[in-house]
Amino acid sequence: MKIPFFNYPALYLDQKDRLDKAINDVMIRGAYILQKDLEEFEFNLAKYCNVNHAIGVANGTDAIWLSLIAAGIGKDDDVIVPSHTYVASPASIKFVGANPILVECGYDNMMDTSSIEDAITPKTKAIMPVQLNGRTCDMDSIISIAEKFELIIIEDSAQGLGSTFKGRMAGTFGVAGTYSFYPAKVLGCFGDGGAVVTNDDEIAEKIKLLRDHGRDSNGVFKTWGVNSRLDNLHAAILLEKLKTFDDDIKKRRSIAEIYHNEIVQGDFVVLPPGPKDDSNHFDTFQNFELRAKKRDELKSFLFENGIGTIIQWGGKAVHQEEYLGLTHFKLPYTDKFFEECLMLPMNTSISDDEALYISSKINEFYDK
Ligand SMILES: *Cc1c(COP(=O)(O)O)cnc(C)c1O
Repeated sequence: MKIPFFNYPALYLDQKDRLDKAINDVMIRGAYILQKDLEEFEFNLAKYCNVNHAIGVANGTDAIWLSLIAAGIGKDDDVIVPSHTYVASPASIKFVGANPILVECGYDNMMDTSSIEDAITPKTKAIMPVQLNGRTCDMDSIISIAEKFELIIIEDSAQGLGSTFKGRMAGTFGVAGTYSFYPAKVLGCFGDGGAVVTNDDEIAEKIKLLRDHGRDSNGVFKTWGVNSRLDNLHAAILLEKLKTFDDDIKKRRSIAEIYHNEIVQGDFVVLPPGPKDDSNHFDTFQNFELRAKKRDELKSFLFENGIGTIIQWGGKAVHQEEYLGLTHFKLPYTDKFFEECLMLPMNTSISDDEALYISSKINEFYDK
């Protein structure tokens, strides 16, 4: 068998007919920038997330950056964020002139909420939980810390769309939450795309201005802004894909279930929490990130057997990057985690047989 980590052509080919129809419809109308498809997608996304506003932007990184600006985070403010995240979260903090304060991840790969209080200083303004791998952080703890220290919450929920904690969707707990529609994300388009969701009317209005050169619907430039619009064509594609998004999640959860039922666990392999492990969490399995002893050998063994795997973020947490100036953060748990973490193929084009094959190869590697 040959199982790539991610099957990019399948993103289109698996749903070619209905996507062609949506794309053609936009092209024939010549509806490219800020058109009705975008408005409709924003409306449906907000409804899906049970939130007042969704605003499409150019990508998930801009979504974080513009949210920080709209929330008033700026020069010399401290923002607490886990080191186990994509560089986009701390980069967005940097680009508003603020300081990313990196903290540990915990047993479930998510921000370790017990490490947040120690990182708080008089300069701390915000906590940025990262809703990683299609799982939502323990938001009860994060909200109670935020309330105690009067901090705002901005969620990097690039990987979190569809996942919930106690029934509430990732991205909707703080003043603003962000999603990415990068092709390999749970809801992926055919290029870059992103969105901000919020219940705050003022933040929503600011993001709308910021993404379109500071211009309001009457063409008046109300503030300085940038061009970070979600293409109408991509909005039309996402609108179509949102219709069957719950089926996509179901499929991912069924693959996760196979991994959980089949892969023998022990101190040599620790899987992420399973789909039915904890009723507070509903996980979408954006990624299936496990910890494995002899990780690099396992990765090679799987590769030799036709199975593509990836170490998240190219193999390093943010504080381990040599040139980003954050190596003074000492995060021993995250360091250990990055010696062992590995992501198995996890997407809607994986068959049950392929998941069984992958599981059996892992068991074979550990002689189980
Ligand atoms: C993908 C991702 C981003 C960035 O999203 P883009 O759309 O690629 O800009 C930010 N944070 C996390 C955690 C991500 O996984």
